[in-house]
Amino acid sequence: MPPPPEIQRVPRDAVTLQPDPPLDFSDADYLNNPALSRDDVKLLREFHNAAKQELCARCNALWFDMDLKDNVCGCCRRADKSRDDNAPFLYSAANDMDRPSQY
Ligand SMILES: [Zn+2]
Repeated sequence: MPPPPEIQRVPRDAVTLQPDPPLDFSDADYLNNPALSRDDVKLLREFHNAAKQELCARCNALWFDMDLKDNVCGCCRRADKSRDDNAPFLYSAANDMDRPSQY
């Protein structure tokens, strides 16, 4: 396993805390509204990029140290170990069991 990436700490006084966007249940489309502020989304993306997450091409899972082989994670490979040749892969789009695409 490669060593963890360098982590640069930001001094606490350099961070401006912002509240999350308000949750408005009266909005019929509230589930599609952002749950994080723009700054928090930026921080989350920077974390994901720095943490070297891996993406499984079959199930769309984005996580750490997924034991990828040919861009397919260990979970998918184990789930399809005894798959019939004509059957779709278990956690695939063909089986409607893949995860939504990443943000
Ligand atoms: Zn997978």
